[in-house]
Amino acid sequence: MTDTLLEIDQLTKNFPITEGIVFKKEVATVKAVAGVSLDVRRGETLGIVGESGCGKSTLARLITNLLAPTSGTVRFDGKDISTFSRQELFAFRRQVTMIFQDPYASLNPRKRVGFIVAEPLVVHGVGTEVERKRRVQELLEVVGLNAEHYNRFPHEFSGGQRQRIGIARALAAGPRLIVCDEPVSALDVSVQAQILNLLSDLQAEFGLTYVFIAHDLSVVRHISDRVAVMYLGRLVELADARELYAEPRHPYTGALLSAVPIANPRLGRSRRKLVLAGDVPSPIDPPSACRFHPRCPRAQDVCSIDDPELRSMGPRSLREAACHFPLERWPLTPDEMRAPVGVPPTVGCANESTPPEFGILK
Ligand code: SF4
Repeated sequence: MTDTLLEIDQLTKNFPITEGIVFKKEVATVKAVAGVSLDVRRGETLGIVGESGCGKSTLARLITNLLAPTSGTVRFDGKDISTFSRQELFAFRRQVTMIFQDPYASLNPRKRVGFIVAEPLVVHGVGTEVERKRRVQELLEVVGLNAEHYNRFPHEFSGGQRQRIGIARALAAGPRLIVCDEPVSALDVSVQAQILNLLSDLQAEFGLTYVFIAHDLSVVRHISDRVAVMYLGRLVELADARELYAEPRHPYTGALLSAVPIANPRLGRSRRKLVLAGDVPSPIDPPSACRFHPRCPRAQDVCSIDDPELRSMGPRSLREAACHFPLERWPLTPDEMRAPVGVPPTVGCANESTPPEFGILK
């Protein structure tokens, strides 16, 4: 048995935009995920981070086979999920489950909690009715609710409690991999911490593997073993969580990291923040080569011509980044941010005269 539970290889997902009612014509394509490759090890938590629209939720749906890829493969436990028979797909649905972002929308308001949590057990034909009820009541206690909550409706619970119900449902059929799609972004900060702690405890208790998706690096910081950073459908950096937070190598990771709030107001005020200009470009017409180049303070001519591959950042380093001019250390001064070291003068800097609009706030 290998150490890898999930392997994603050159995964791409395009969504066609069509016009016309009777005769549909494709007028554009949304390139939501573009050639993402990574693996998830057994028992680890892989955090996937990026701004809204970077393709992380599409990636979650590709991993769970809720969407079919345009190209590329997802292998679960060594098997390509696109080649699964009906029976294998049925078994896969039991082993890979999801926790959704919105605990208000993801639970059926007309069904009682007992029914909602027991549904995966019913679908997979697990146990008798009495056994299922006992199992659901146990699960409710495992996630910090009471067995008496079995007969209540979702509207009787707070947001954090509803997310606990969603977690109990995801756990019900005994999964090996749970894809958590922004499970705490709709919750208050204090409740977020409780849910993150609960997920960590459950991982230790049941030996679970998580893919944890968030748009905020601070949320995945404590729960992730490794972190993958996505930008506009591409994977731009993948590293051990501690390394990534201590020393980001991709300029986009640096920008995300500098936006993470610091609890200490004195440190927070003295910290320089890198503020990226503009919005994420449209995935319908993404920038050429390095997709980050219109917003990158280090961009040079080569960045809009030659697409950087995800590559190792050193012989002894497990981290990878897709950048021609990765950050050498962190944090950097404004001058260092604009002038990468070791660039041959013949290459020139496209932005020497017109640097991209970004600011370093003190
Ligand atoms: Fe992309 Fe160039 Fe910036 Fe690296 S330095 S992120 S390759 S634009």
